[in-house]
Amino acid sequence: MQTAVNAYLVNTGSNLVLVDTGAASCFGPTLGQIVNNLRAAGYEPAQVDTVLLTHLHGDHACGLVSGGQPVFPNATVHVDKADANYWLSEANAATAGKDSQALFGMARDAVAPYQAVNRLRTFDAAAGAEPVPGVRTVAAYGHTPGHTGYLFTSGKASLLLWGDIVHNHAVQFRRPSVSMEFDVDSHAAATTRSRIFADAAKGGLWVGGAHLPFPGIGHVRRDTGGYEWVPVEYGPVREDMMASPRN
Ligand SMILES: [Zn+2]
Repeated sequence: MQTAVNAYLVNTGSNLVLVDTGAASCFGPTLGQIVNNLRAAGYEPAQVDTVLLTHLHGDHACGLVSGGQPVFPNATVHVDKADANYWLSEANAATAGKDSQALFGMARDAVAPYQAVNRLRTFDAAAGAEPVPGVRTVAAYGHTPGHTGYLFTSGKASLLLWGDIVHNHAVQFRRPSVSMEFDVDSHAAATTRSRIFADAAKGGLWVGGAHLPFPGIGHVRRDTGGYEWVPVEYGPVREDMMASPRN
C-alpha cells in the first residue's frame, strides 16, 4: 500500500507550531523529508518552538531526533498523557506482541532527548487542554490511546489537523466502520472516525490528514450512506502569490 506521510507547519503569529514530525529514517528511504521541506518553505528547524504530536507512532514522532540529538532544539513537545503513558511504558513494551515491539522503541527514542531537558509535556485532550494558546485539542482516541487532533481557528475558518483518522481515503470515507490493523482499539477508532467526520462535515472545517494524499488538505462532505473527501487542488506556490497584496 502506498501512502502519504504529511506533517503541518503552522505559524500562528505567536508560535511556530509543527504538527507531527514525519518518519525520518524509521520507515525506509522514501520518507523523512520534513526538514528538507521545512527549509524549502523558508524555515529552520531551530525556529520551531512547539511540536504537537497527534500520537507517538514512528511515522509521526521519529522525525524528532537524528542520531540521538533533537532535530528541533528549541521546541517543547506536547502529546496526550494517555499516549505517553501507553507508548513510553516499559511494562507495555515488554508484554507487546513481536510486531509492535519496534513501535515502543521508536516512541521512546523519539522523545528521549526532549525528556532529558524537560521539554516533553503531556496534556489531557479529554479535559479540553490547550497546550498552545488558541490551539484546541480534539480527543480522537482509538487509533492509539491518546490520539489527538488539533484545531486552529482564524476568523471564521477552522483547520482540524486530525492525524490518523483516515489511513485509506478510498475506503474509509465511504465506510467509516472499516478499521486498520494498526489501531490499538479498532472499535473506538471507528466510533471516533464517525464522530469526527460528522463534526468536520457539519462545521465546514478544513481538514489536514497525515495519510491523505499530499498535501492532505480538504473538506469532508456527507454523501449517501457515508462521506466523501473533497481535496484542495494542489499547485506550487508562485512568486506573485508570495508578494504582499499592497505591492
Ligand atoms: Zn500514521
